[in-house]
Amino acid sequence: MRKRLPLRALAAGLALLLALCAGCTPQPEKHTETFAAMDTVMTLTLYGGEDGTLSAAKDRVLELESLLSVTDPDSEIAALNRDGSAALSPDAAELLGRALELCGRTGGALDVTIYPVVRAWGFTTGNYAVPDGGVIADLLTRVDYTQVRLDGGTASLPEGFELDLGAVAKGYTGDTLAALLKENGVTSALLELGGNIHTVGTKPDGSDWRVAVRDPAGDGYVGVVSVASKAVITSGGYERYFEEGGVRYWHIMDPKTGAPARSGLASVTVVADSGVYGDALSTALFVMGLDGALDYWRANRDFEAIFVAEDGSVTVTAGLEDAFALSGRHNMAVARP
Ligand code: ADP
Ligand code: MG
Repeated sequence: MRKRLPLRALAAGLALLLALCAGCTPQPEKHTETFAAMDTVMTLTLYGGEDGTLSAAKDRVLELESLLSVTDPDSEIAALNRDGSAALSPDAAELLGRALELCGRTGGALDVTIYPVVRAWGFTTGNYAVPDGGVIADLLTRVDYTQVRLDGGTASLPEGFELDLGAVAKGYTGDTLAALLKENGVTSALLELGGNIHTVGTKPDGSDWRVAVRDPAGDGYVGVVSVASKAVITSGGYERYFEEGGVRYWHIMDPKTGAPARSGLASVTVVADSGVYGDALSTALFVMGLDGALDYWRANRDFEAIFVAEDGSVTVTAGLEDAFALSGRHNMAVARP
C-alpha cells in the first residue's frame, strides 16, 4: 500500500494540472456585430478566424441583398421584373435555380412568382389592403413558377410575371456565410439573420448551440432546440402581418388561393443542413399545413421540424425528440416515420 501512495499522489497532481490547463486554454477570440439588412436585424457572432473575417461576412450580406432584393430598383431581381429578362450574377442564378427546383419538390407550395400577389396585399411596400376577389383571380394568372426560364445565367419571365426570392434569400445568405467563415478558419459561429439561425460547428466549448423557438402567440418561447452545424429556420404568421376587420393577414401566401396561407399552423421551424432548403421548406410547409407537411417529411426525411399550431399545440418530427426541450405550458406530440 505504502509504495502505491506516491503514484496516487502523482496521478491526483496530474489531474489537477490538467483541470487547471483546461481553464487557461486560450478561448478563440469572439467577434460580433449587429446590423440591419434584408428587411430584418442580423447579428453575426464568430469565434476565431482572422481579423477582417467579420467585416468580409457583413459585406457579403450587403452584396447579396443588393443583388436579390425585390424592392431595391437596382437589384438584379428588380431588373428581371422590370425588363422580363436579365443576365444574373452567379449568386442570383444559383439561388433561382435551386429555388425553382424546390418549388417543384413542394408541389408549388413554394412559388417564386408569387410577387404580384404579395404586392397586392401590401407586403414589401407597406400599403396593406385586402384585395378583392377579382383582382386576386387576375393576379393568379401570373403566378406559375414553371413559366420561369433560366438558361445559363439568363433568366426570363412571361409578360406580367414577377419574381420574389424573399422566401429563400436569407437561407442562401446563411449558407454563403457559413462557407465563407469555414474558408477563413472559423470553426464556431452563430449567425442570426432575423428568424433564420445558422450555426457553424458547436459552441467554442464543444457543446451544442441552444436555439429558442418563439411562441407565435406571445413573447416567450415554446422550447429550445440543441443543434450543431445546422440551419434553424422559422416562418410564422406573427412575423409580418396587418389586421383588418378583426382578421389577421400575414405575409406567407398560399399560391393556390392568392391569400395568406391559413393552414392551422402558427409557425414552422425547420432544422436542416442547408439554409436554402430549410428556408424554402419553412415557407412551403407553413402553406401545406401540418398533415401535408408531415407527409412531405415522411416522403423525404432530409430535415427535421417543429410545428406550432394556432391552438398552441406543438408537434416535432422524431429526429428532434431528444434535441428539443419543450417549455412548461405547451403540449407536444412526436411525429413518427
Ligand atoms: P421571412 O422572410 O419572414 O423569414 P419566409 O421565409 O417565410 O419569411 O418568406 C416569406 C416571404 O416570401 C414573403 O415576405 C414573400 O415575399 C414571399 N412569399 C410569401 N409566400 C410565398 C410562397 N408561397 N412562395 C414563395 N414565396 C413566398
Ligand atoms: Mg422561408
